[in-house]
Amino acid sequence: MTPVSCFVVDVGHLRRSPGLQWHRTWREPMADLVVTGSAVPAGQPVELDVVLESVLGGVRALGVVRFGWAGACRRCLRPAAGSVEVAVAEMFTPGSDGEDTYPLVGDLVDLEPLVRDAVLLELPPAPLCHPGCRGLCPACGTDRNVATCRCGPALDGRWAALDQLYPAPARRAPRAVSGEDLRSSYRAAGPTTR
Ligand SMILES: [Zn+2]
Ligand SMILES: [Zn+2]
Repeated sequence: MTPVSCFVVDVGHLRRSPGLQWHRTWREPMADLVVTGSAVPAGQPVELDVVLESVLGGVRALGVVRFGWAGACRRCLRPAAGSVEVAVAEMFTPGSDGEDTYPLVGDLVDLEPLVRDAVLLELPPAPLCHPGCRGLCPACGTDRNVATCRCGPALDGRWAALDQLYPAPARRAPRAVSGEDLRSSYRAAGPTTR
C-alpha cells in the first residue's frame, strides 16, 4: 500500500455549488519522476497550481505544473538542467478508468496522477547542457566546448567565425594556436553560449 497522497482533496463543497472555483497550490517532493535522459532530482519539490471547478459530469482541474530537472547532456555528457512549466487541463469523473479522465471517488480527487503524468511527459529524454553545445569529438572524445583537437575541421558556424579571426596561418600550422588561445579568442569574440 502506498501512503495516502498529499494531493487528495475533498471537493464535496464544489459539487454542491456548480460554478464555484477553488484555487489550490502544492509544492511537494515526489519520488520516481525519471525518464531515460533526465529526472526530477530526489527531494526537489514539484509545484501544482490549479483551479478546481464542478462542471457537468465531474470536476475540472485547470492549472500549471512546474518542476526542475537534471540529466546528462546528449552531446557532451556533462550535467544538464532546466525547468519546465506546463499547462494542465483535466477532468475528474465518477467511474473513470483513468484513460481519458482521472477518477472522482465519492467527493475525493487525487491530483497526484495528473501531476506525475504531466511531469513524465515533459521531462526531456535527450537534454542539452545549453542549445549551442558542441559536444565531444567523435574521433578522440575531446569536449569541444572547452578544447580543440587535431582530428580535422569541425566547421560549424562558430568555428567558421574563428577561422576568420585566424586566417591562413592558423590553418597551415594549427599547432601555432594553442587550445588556450582558441578558447580565450572564442570567449572574447563570442557568441556566448548562454
Ligand atoms: Zn553539452
Ligand atoms: Zn578529436
